[in-house]
Amino acid sequence: MADTFDSLDPATGEVVATFPIAGAADVRAVVAEAREASRWWAMIGFSERKKRLLAWRSLIAGRIDELADLVHREGGKTRDDAMLETILAIDHIDWAAKHAAKVLGRRSVSPGLLSANHAATIQYLPYGVVGVIGPWNYPVFTPMGSITYALAASNAVVFKPSEFTPAVGEWLVRTFAEVVPEQPVLQVVTGLGETGAALCEAGVDKIAFTGSSATGKKVMQACSATLTPVLVECGGKDVLIIDEDADIEAAAQAAAWGACSNAGQTCVGTERVYAHEKVYDKVLHRTAEIMRDLQPGNDGGAAYGPMTMPSQLDVVRRHVDAAIADGGRAVLGGPESIAPPYVRPVVLAEVPETSVAIQEETFGPVVIINKVASMDEAVTKANATPYGLAAAVFSRSAGERIAARLRTGMVAINSVISFAGIPSLPFGGVGESGFGRIHGEDGLREFARSQSVAKLRVPIPLVVTSFARKPYAVRLIADMMRRRFRGGAS
Ligand code: NAD
Repeated sequence: MADTFDSLDPATGEVVATFPIAGAADVRAVVAEAREASRWWAMIGFSERKKRLLAWRSLIAGRIDELADLVHREGGKTRDDAMLETILAIDHIDWAAKHAAKVLGRRSVSPGLLSANHAATIQYLPYGVVGVIGPWNYPVFTPMGSITYALAASNAVVFKPSEFTPAVGEWLVRTFAEVVPEQPVLQVVTGLGETGAALCEAGVDKIAFTGSSATGKKVMQACSATLTPVLVECGGKDVLIIDEDADIEAAAQAAAWGACSNAGQTCVGTERVYAHEKVYDKVLHRTAEIMRDLQPGNDGGAAYGPMTMPSQLDVVRRHVDAAIADGGRAVLGGPESIAPPYVRPVVLAEVPETSVAIQEETFGPVVIINKVASMDEAVTKANATPYGLAAAVFSRSAGERIAARLRTGMVAINSVISFAGIPSLPFGGVGESGFGRIHGEDGLREFARSQSVAKLRVPIPLVVTSFARKPYAVRLIADMMRRRFRGGAS
């Protein structure tokens, strides 16, 4: 009998479900089935795929309570937060289904003067089988950013959900089969890290990985053996910058939500705030005041839930201790806020930029609020970690100017994390936060290979790509180019 593992309710420790650990041979067999399914899925065409994806969207919308309950039990987040991430995922299915044909279908481009006798077209064809490896913190929204867009781009998908949230992964795959019963176009393989590693080596045509930077590097290394392309969505150390002319109440509310929602276990969560010195005291005071009222728990009244992964408690403890040992000030809470499986909100101030608490992802309901003399200083400090996922800027007059200088894949101006809910906006990072994009047009193209076609329309005597060309042909074209581009930029 295959080995199994349990997924647990992080608030109570109760077993939610038990799943098999898929070994390398199991994963290969699933990928082989997916290969067959991918041919059928590609063959049915954009409009039929759209119909099926929209049916899946409607099915999930109709059973949103059931899914949110499962996300709550397995991951620990509040039912409302579980519902919120599902709502966003539904919107993404809708967008991807409705835009795939337009973004990926064949389109004409100008052949240019030199090849004016050709018709030039591009189309985006599926890779075939895409392996999706997911994290636990947004077990619906995050993997669906890859799954949905890969499916809409005509690929079959093999999904390896996090070992902390396999039941959610299984639910998604089971419900997809209700609207696509003919072929196993979306399948699940459950297991620990080794199952993910096996998926990288099972002959898939692309891997979409979301998780920690450390695992992302292992995935990329494994995929390098077969030159399998990878999309890597990793962690962050996101900032929220507050200018002197910002709406302080809105910024403090955003900082509190960005830091504490989902117990701070959000890749694009707010971990650092840089506030202009003219508004710093107000920001610090108001943010701490809001966060003081947030109670973690497992009931309907809780602001957020337990830490999903017990080992993350150690990371949070290490960072809070280091911030204080390095000279930072605990304005709200401190080491005593860590009460497994919960962490009560922590606000730290004036933490040195070299501290591990500033440089590494904490992934807990902890925010560091530091003072800056100018927006130049805020930008420099924001850009000074190896990560580059997302950011938020609060400013009445300079939002876009500050945003443009941030080394991140996404920025929210006068709001926080809002880009994630706009399906047409690509999502992804730079540096240790990874590369490649989900969502939007870029997200569809991420799961397709472009194929360029040049078709001869009218044969002309001036052929240069033939041994039958006339001796003067190349010279004639060179003269033409000289005349065309002589002396100028236009
Ligand atoms: P993780 O790296 O521990 O695990 C992610 C997945 O990789 C899991 O399914 C795991 O089983 C699998 N895995 C582990 N070892 C593997 C290996 N050697 N080869 C292949 N797969 C392997 O990450 P996590 O703790 O599940 O997720 C939290 C991290 O994810 C945080 O850093 C967070 O910031 C990041 N995250 C990023 C985004 C984003 O879009 N950028 C979104 C959500 C989470």
